[in-house]
Amino acid sequence: MTTARRRDQEPPADFDATSDILDFDRDEFRRLGYWVVDRTAEHLATLDRRPAVSVTDLSRLEELLGGELPMDPGVVETGLALLADVAFEHQQHGDHPRYFARVPGPSSHAGILADWLSTGMQAISSSWAGGSGPATLELVALGWLQEALGMPAASEGVLLSGGSMANVTALVAARHANGDGVIYLSDQTHSSVRRGITSIGHPPELVRVVPTDHAFRLSPRALHEVIESDHEAGRSPSIVVATAGTTNTGAVDDLPAISAICREYGAWLHVDGAYGAPAALVEGRSGILGLELADSLVLDPHKWLFQPYDVACLLVARPGVLEAAFGMHPEYLADAQGGPVDFHNRGLELTRRSRAAKLWLTLRTYGMRRLACAVERGILLAELAQRAVELDPRLEVVTPAQLGVLTFQGIDATAADVVRACEHVTSSGFAAVSSTVLKGRTVVRMCTINPRTSRRDVEQTVERLAESIARQPGGER
Ligand SMILES: *Cc1c(COP(=O)(O)O)cnc(C)c1O
Repeated sequence: MTTARRRDQEPPADFDATSDILDFDRDEFRRLGYWVVDRTAEHLATLDRRPAVSVTDLSRLEELLGGELPMDPGVVETGLALLADVAFEHQQHGDHPRYFARVPGPSSHAGILADWLSTGMQAISSSWAGGSGPATLELVALGWLQEALGMPAASEGVLLSGGSMANVTALVAARHANGDGVIYLSDQTHSSVRRGITSIGHPPELVRVVPTDHAFRLSPRALHEVIESDHEAGRSPSIVVATAGTTNTGAVDDLPAISAICREYGAWLHVDGAYGAPAALVEGRSGILGLELADSLVLDPHKWLFQPYDVACLLVARPGVLEAAFGMHPEYLADAQGGPVDFHNRGLELTRRSRAAKLWLTLRTYGMRRLACAVERGILLAELAQRAVELDPRLEVVTPAQLGVLTFQGIDATAADVVRACEHVTSSGFAAVSSTVLKGRTVVRMCTINPRTSRRDVEQTVERLAESIARQPGGER
């Protein structure tokens, strides 16, 4: 594949003439860029007329996107069109107004624009010396989120690729600061936490899964009992993982009560707010109290703060903890270290894109009041969905609307009926809905955090689910 070249050969005479070997002509680059902008704007404007999810088999996609290793230049327009029309068409559209499955990703225009610009300008947020501007954006965006969510002013943070990475980063830092004793979870803790604990080599016999109450909240009483029995047996409690907005039902753990137990036993309180923490921006409606009591807090702006994928945020109340766990000082980075902040020392990533740019532009463009209204719409939409379910004699609510999540069932429906109804509505293209299992019971789950969703979107989706679920299993469609 490569051309053999001897060390003593002269470079070719036209060597300098090939320095633009990868560049398009400047006007050509602009023209293609405008095409990308136009195509994206068109996509966003017409999204609700297209399927919320579209999946095709690998062989069909490979036929269009694969082929032999390209050795010679291809046509960029054709490639761009394949990306837009084929690759990105066949996916879940988390920003579709009737995408209610798992967790939607309703990105904002401001976030998209900033991400484009930071890509074009190769923004990097690793060291101060290598990226003081992007590092400042990250410090500022983290500071704004810390203030908006009421975390202590001294908190430090880092932006990561998602809740999974942010949770495991928090666990590593917490364990470094607080010792490798016992870690406590609930049966509703997100699976990424469990996977993170295993990945960092924490012994399974030092992990406790504490039961939740009837509302799927970690039971402080049960937690206290388990911690006390570990304490009596001479094992030291290290980390308690609480959740502010569980993925299954939007349940919010009792952070003040859990924090009091953590203080009593010297345990680190990690709050996984990957899904729900932004709801705390909506005064009096979220049921989230006590975020300021967390030793570490995770939120996922690519879920409920309207960001393009990917960006998660980890905030740690005590300064220096992240650097203590992750700092590295090799000789080849010596001249790039020692500024006000080196974000590569706050986590496992060295080269890091500027995830802050989109968050910074979003916060500054819309302002917290408008963002809180957008979050509140999601909370209200789930309440509208709940009303629609309550008014339908074929359906019953299982867990009430909570932080934009509602779960329900068909009267007398089996687990298979529920799964089939979700599949039916989703494969019709009208909406995307998924199921989950709550203490053994299979339910429909709708997550309604897209501010572009209308009342009608919600009501029509509930109606279609009711119709589908009420049909006899295996009966005529
Ligand atoms: C989605 C979610 C995660 C994982 O976040 P990713 O961004 O998907 O990695 C962790 N915890 C909770 C509560 C979540 O809802």
